[in-house]
Amino acid sequence: MDKVNILGVRVDMVNIEQAADKIMEFMNEDKFHAVFTPNSEIIMHAYKNAAFADLLNRAELLTADGIGVVYASKILKKPIKERAAGYDIARLVLAKMNGSEHKLFLFGGKPGVAEEAKANLLKEYPDLNIVGMRNGYFKPEEESEIVNEINASGADMLFVCLGAPKQEEWIDRNRSALNIRVAMGIGGSLDVFAGRVERAPDFFCKTGLEWFYRLCKEPWRIGRMMELPKFAATVIAKGKKYKQD
Ligand code: UDP
Repeated sequence: MDKVNILGVRVDMVNIEQAADKIMEFMNEDKFHAVFTPNSEIIMHAYKNAAFADLLNRAELLTADGIGVVYASKILKKPIKERAAGYDIARLVLAKMNGSEHKLFLFGGKPGVAEEAKANLLKEYPDLNIVGMRNGYFKPEEESEIVNEINASGADMLFVCLGAPKQEEWIDRNRSALNIRVAMGIGGSLDVFAGRVERAPDFFCKTGLEWFYRLCKEPWRIGRMMELPKFAATVIAKGKKYKQD
């Protein structure tokens, strides 16, 4: 797969459909695969933290979640055509898993969220095999118990929704302990599946203005969003120094 190196993070040049197809291929391989969907904020975090950049680059699939990452790829002359947000990829994967032998575990969100997400998902995908759920609030000493619970469920697909960078770190830390085929870090997606958070209307997502919609709805995100102009400036100033394959 073609990749674009954005400030040291090697992002796969895939759209939503290609990402979902790749994930279904991973599901047929008897080994662990991590799927992360970095946005500009996460790439900036990796730019400042080499260990975190390595962690991201260890993933078997890294997709561009956010218009900032898509623009960065254009600045670097290796254009990704559209954003491939975790939520959208997850939806396609769910549609493909519906009626299959594959088993899903939902991990993350406040207590009750995964259960609500399961109920809603089963309305939409009635033949989805959801074999376990666990909220995303735990003490470090509970981590191995959570891994055991996931392994015991027989799941091959794991959605990890702890927010970034927590979910990426959790997945990477437990790579060898997890007996599953694919772990996807998909942020607040369970809240959306549960109906607790509304996703931006299509218009905002398609025009690259989802950040603006979220800012209006959740103004406390302004601090995090101020990373976006810094990201753009950094890509313009330093992006070309990173070797493209
Ligand atoms: N969350 C969690 N455990 C934590 C911190 C956060 O399960 O220790 C959940 C939180 O309830 C929410 C999600 O992680 O469902 C983070 O959502 P957000 O939209 O902030 O994530 P983003 O995708 O923007 O990083």
